[in-house]
Amino acid sequence: MNPVSYVLDRHPALVIDGALATELERRGCDLNDDLWSAKILLEQPEIIKQVHLEYFQAGADCAITASYQASLEGFQRRGLIEKEAIDLIQKSVRLALEARDEFWTEPANRPGRPKPFVAASVGPYGAFLADGSEYRGNYGLSEKDLMDFHRPRMRALIEAGADILACETIPSLTEAKAIARLLREFPSISAWLSFSARDERHISEGQRFAESVEELENHPQIAAIGINCTSPKFIPSLIGEAKRVTEKPVLVYPNSGETYNAEKNDWNGDPVLESFGWQAREWYGAGARLIGGCCRTTPDDIGVIAGWARSSRLAQKRTESKRDNVTNN
Ligand SMILES: [Zn+2]
Repeated sequence: MNPVSYVLDRHPALVIDGALATELERRGCDLNDDLWSAKILLEQPEIIKQVHLEYFQAGADCAITASYQASLEGFQRRGLIEKEAIDLIQKSVRLALEARDEFWTEPANRPGRPKPFVAASVGPYGAFLADGSEYRGNYGLSEKDLMDFHRPRMRALIEAGADILACETIPSLTEAKAIARLLREFPSISAWLSFSARDERHISEGQRFAESVEELENHPQIAAIGINCTSPKFIPSLIGEAKRVTEKPVLVYPNSGETYNAEKNDWNGDPVLESFGWQAREWYGAGARLIGGCCRTTPDDIGVIAGWARSSRLAQKRTESKRDNVTNN
């Protein structure tokens, strides 16, 4: 049983957490670095744990680890030896597990919600390049090259005890297929696979989102498929695209709607006007079942999502629709 079905068998929706980097910056961490939040793993690990705790308190059912931009090659470039690099990648999982256990030890935190789980972030090859290519793709690498890049980190994250892999912000179908094929080398773990998108229908590199989802549909280890780090304005249509071709739960955790400027390492534009957390109800209505936020979203946003996602009315509705399904069959 993977943690996604465990939660969705018992609750109407699964609440994903929000941005890690944004919260680290709010606490004074300087992320202007090729290693991004992974740099804080080296320098201020306690703060990462604090942010995970804050998201659990806000209502998140899972913590996505600070390994998005962590890679063996990236750390080795910074002078770490292989063993140290692996240890640092695994530390991202340990921090999230510690935060989860601390949170769950307190009985007052438990009523009405499942035990949270740890989703180990597997960022795309483009995140290692640190030039914004996770929103473009077109790396010019083969499926095999990409498998070789992802293999050591994936192994390290699994060995550190992650509950599931969050393969996220994937811009290209070639990379998604490489990850899917690599997963078969680690048959005990499940994963979610989340693309970045350029518009209502296409993932960042340009392939149709629906076709990309279809390619992954029969993979037994993929527990959910969807979109993250994409503007909320494209999300309802993308959910519709996915729902046409998949039986798997659909996940969405868009960014705030601002766009990333890789040269300046900054965000431009205005966030969506309507509250992010309330807007997310529309995504539930469109059929998404795992819902959270990516860059520039906050524990407050996640708190709003958890609020409506755990309301008794939503649970009631779900029971009714299950009953209807049974009657119709
Ligand atoms: Zn993001």
